[in-house]
Amino acid sequence: MKKFIKFLCVIMAVAMTVSLASCGGSDEDTITMATNANFPPYEYKEGDNFKGIDVEIATEIAKKLGKKLEIADVEFGSIIGGVQSGKYDMGMAGMTVTDERKKSVNFSTTYATGIQSVIVKSGSKVKSVDDIAKMVKDGGKIGVQQDTTGDIYASDTPDNGGYGEDNVVRYKNGADAVQALVTDKVGCVIIDNEPAKSFVKANKGLEILNTEFTVEDYAIAIAKDNNDLLKDINKALDELKKDGTIDKIVAKYIPSK
Ligand code: GLN
Repeated sequence: MKKFIKFLCVIMAVAMTVSLASCGGSDEDTITMATNANFPPYEYKEGDNFKGIDVEIATEIAKKLGKKLEIADVEFGSIIGGVQSGKYDMGMAGMTVTDERKKSVNFSTTYATGIQSVIVKSGSKVKSVDDIAKMVKDGGKIGVQQDTTGDIYASDTPDNGGYGEDNVVRYKNGADAVQALVTDKVGCVIIDNEPAKSFVKANKGLEILNTEFTVEDYAIAIAKDNNDLLKDINKALDELKKDGTIDKIVAKYIPSK
């Protein structure tokens, strides 16, 4: 009997090891996307569900790779580090390709364009980008989402086209920056154009200045040592562009395009 119990224990231990191993193996079947789900219409949450252009494109990519998509909703500033360390397979967050970021991660081919826009309160003295310098001189602050290109441009030194760090207030996400504008904590917000439109639509008394700040390319961030995934994602993106899937997804969220 004792022998039999010992035998049973061995069987159970083996079974547990096998099931644990298959649990680890299932990672192979999953692709993790790190994002900041406060950036409509690219990524946002409706109840517990993730929605948006990036979420739908990522879903199509995962389908093509035969993997299940998992989404990690994190601060924008921790996406690149997480991709670099292998915590996430890819970063997809309306992320602009910049030379600085390219030092840390690889980028896929680009799948969308973003424009940095300026949101102000209706009737604001800031009527064009040129008025921002004046506003700052009078003690006004610029609101941005921390670690985004809007933050990087605005915080740069004036001789580089920025306004200086001291004149910039950084918020965890775009929605918080816009709330700061609504409550007069900042005089304008610099943020990507499509989220800007969504935020203006959701908050009365705001408008977007007519002048464009800069035009940028959005792409997916992938770890530098993960060349296979970079190739697979680029192939998937290429197919999704050619068969009109990406256009269809974009048109669903941005009807005018
Ligand atoms: N496109 C901007 C950037 O890459 C903002 C992205 C975001 O806030 N999700 O910095």
